[in-house]
Amino acid sequence: MLVESFIEGRWTSGDAAGEPLRDATDGAAVAQMSAAPIDFAAALEHARSVGGAALRALTFHERAGILKSLAKALGAHKEELYSLSYRTGATKHDSWLDIDGGIATLFVYASKGVREMPNGRVYIDGATEQLSKSGKFLGQHICVPLEGAAVHINAFNFPVWGMLEKLAPTLLAGVPAIIKPATSTAYLAELLFRRIIESGVLPAGAVQLICGSVGNLFDHLQAQDVVAFTGSASTASVLRRHAAVAERSVRFTAETDSLNSSILGDDVRPGSPEFELFIREVVREMSVKAGQKCTAIRKAIVPAVLCEPVLEALRGKLAQLVIGDPRLEAVNMGPLASLAQRREVRAQLARLTAEATVAFGGELALHPTGADAERGAFLAPTLLHCSDARAARAVQTIEAFGPVCTVLPYASADEAIALARRGGGSLVASVVSADDALAARLVTGLAPFHGRILVVNAACAADSTGHGSPLPHLVHGGPGRAGGGEELGGIRGVLHYMQRTAVQGTPDLLTAVTSRWVRGARQRDPQEHPFRIPFAALVIGDSFNSGEREVTLADIERFAALSGDHFYAHMDEAAARRNPLFGGRVAHGYFLIAAAAGLFVEPEFGPVLANYGIDALRFVKPVKPGDRIRVRISCKEKSLRAGAGYGEVRWDAEIINQDGAVVASYDVLTMVSERAIPDQVA
Ligand code: NDP
Repeated sequence: MLVESFIEGRWTSGDAAGEPLRDATDGAAVAQMSAAPIDFAAALEHARSVGGAALRALTFHERAGILKSLAKALGAHKEELYSLSYRTGATKHDSWLDIDGGIATLFVYASKGVREMPNGRVYIDGATEQLSKSGKFLGQHICVPLEGAAVHINAFNFPVWGMLEKLAPTLLAGVPAIIKPATSTAYLAELLFRRIIESGVLPAGAVQLICGSVGNLFDHLQAQDVVAFTGSASTASVLRRHAAVAERSVRFTAETDSLNSSILGDDVRPGSPEFELFIREVVREMSVKAGQKCTAIRKAIVPAVLCEPVLEALRGKLAQLVIGDPRLEAVNMGPLASLAQRREVRAQLARLTAEATVAFGGELALHPTGADAERGAFLAPTLLHCSDARAARAVQTIEAFGPVCTVLPYASADEAIALARRGGGSLVASVVSADDALAARLVTGLAPFHGRILVVNAACAADSTGHGSPLPHLVHGGPGRAGGGEELGGIRGVLHYMQRTAVQGTPDLLTAVTSRWVRGARQRDPQEHPFRIPFAALVIGDSFNSGEREVTLADIERFAALSGDHFYAHMDEAAARRNPLFGGRVAHGYFLIAAAAGLFVEPEFGPVLANYGIDALRFVKPVKPGDRIRVRISCKEKSLRAGAGYGEVRWDAEIINQDGAVVASYDVLTMVSERAIPDQVA
């Protein structure tokens, strides 16, 4: 198998180059990299001018639709991906994290793109800012796609998830990607990429693949390009300081080595559910992917008095692990990704054991099930114990990227926090404790130095996604040594590929820019009740101004009887007078909402199918018996549900009193048929 690149819409063909890439279990040659030359400047230009232009022509919802189609298409190829993934040393469970985890990330971004982004091309970031008393001069942050290319440099340990977790937010943003997978597992990344191209769901130029060196690509980076890197801190440091990156302010985000901690609370006793949880979590993090996870637990920080029971329990569980050929059902832990990686981990272990003792593993003779210990990149899970945690240096600086973890004792919560923070910034920390006050103290102490914190106890253990799993909904990345970057985190991850711009102007200008009606903008008179207008014909700003109705004491009494809400402010004049906000009886807020619906709803059969909620409801001013109210509703935002035959329409609503003062404001959410519903259906 020749691992090829895909540049400017074509697979490159060339001679085989370098050493073969080998099966992690038996050392057999799996593939070889192609030596075809690549014009990196042309690849970047192709991404920007062809891929970028095509993606930017689509709305967020259309791009989300592409992610969903891609996820479905890749789902049909899982079997062959799993089959090839064994060759990287991954067990079935390891591959599930990589392959199913990657596809699930696409699905989550597809769903979030539709639910949390507009069906347009401009993302509205945050609330409108009132910049003048008159309301005629406003500010609004918007985000638009960068017009460059995203260069994704991925690590060897998750060839599938690593590619898809970066790709999903990038494509949703409307930015094309040039992907460079790590060489040692590039054959799996290349297979995935082939299936992406063959699916035919991506526009031309949206993705390209560089297998092998990135050559002089960095020299051609421009200010609209983005680099997202996962790998070692040393490579990140070299790339971040590249002249083009530094001088052209190319966005650079990195996710690098990380010395992650798990802290056992001092409320936990041996034999308790939390104790068992902690032991399970540490063993899982050492054995999944043979510890080759950027999020794996490297430091198990435990109360000094619990050190011995913890070490003993961990030894017992580690001894039960079945290590061997990852294809075998019984095997829990496969080899490292390559012999080179094993050499690297052994070298790091030698440095760690200068100040920590081996509690389990180390140079223990291994007899891997169904495999040869030397031809395959097998390494015993190795537990270290560092009794003088305060003096330890190596454990706070060296990441052995394999099945290696060090137990460190602590005497107080502050010391536990300090030991975790000495990692210099990490991707994740976990706390195992049933004491919420203690856990809260640990969380606030750990948070400045960590990108994610998992707190787990018996109450949530069954539902917990675990210490080591980054989730598309939550940020992945960490400060300092962890690279200082941030990925995922729902729509936050999309915004890394967009420019945030503050726009100032009139309400009409902001409405025109965002396609969302802003209060104070022109109201459009559609010449009929807007509830009679189907989705396709409805225009942003189409408004309806109702007639007036008086709110009487009888209304308040009847509403109290009907709803059962006899709160004194509505029902007891003497008590209501003592209320400093009201000074007398006032109408129920919920009555005003109901009465307002009576004023603005068009009762006849029509394209409005349902009212599915109210957002941002505020009661601004009390309404007293004898006051008169009217309502204005304006079509604020439209979002078509592709293929459903209807769309969601958000109406800006204000209830106004006889003096012209707003007494309540809210958004009414409706579903509206795309076209007029024919008579026979009615
Ligand atoms: P590297 O930093 O060497 O490689 C990471 C990626 O960068 C690979 O795709 C690699 O490509 C690429 N790369 C390397 N040099 C350059 C360069 N000069 N220009 C552009 N791209 C480059 O890390 P490794 O994968 O070798 O892992 C080394 C260590 O990094 C691990 O032992 C571990 O400590 C840490 N690591 C952290 C991960 C995390 O998720 N945080 C994941 C993996 C590793 P190529 O493979 O072709 O060299």
